[in-house]
Amino acid sequence: MRQHVTDPEICIGCSACELACPLKAIKSILGRYCVDASVCEGCGKCIEECPTSAADCFIEVAEPYSQDQQSQWTSLPLIDT
Ligand code: SF4
Ligand code: SF4
Repeated sequence: MRQHVTDPEICIGCSACELACPLKAIKSILGRYCVDASVCEGCGKCIEECPTSAADCFIEVAEPYSQDQQSQWTSLPLIDT
């Protein structure tokens, strides 16, 4: 599946995505903006509001990463293709 995440290396922690999400799918954990894959419907509002394009980030995964897992990232995970 294609999972929507935020890119830790570009994100400046401004909270705009969290505030923009109508479904509250984005939560700040340890300063990382983590997307709940079970809630996000891909509407793109967070991407429109993100000043750095960090929210415009999608990765191919077999199983979605949890928000707690995303909170540990300092860079995007290496994805096996
Ligand atoms: S794409 Fe839409 S639903 Fe998903 S996190 Fe962004 S604002 Fe929320
Ligand atoms: S809007 Fe973009 S830069 Fe701001 S916290 Fe969200 S992902 Fe990071």
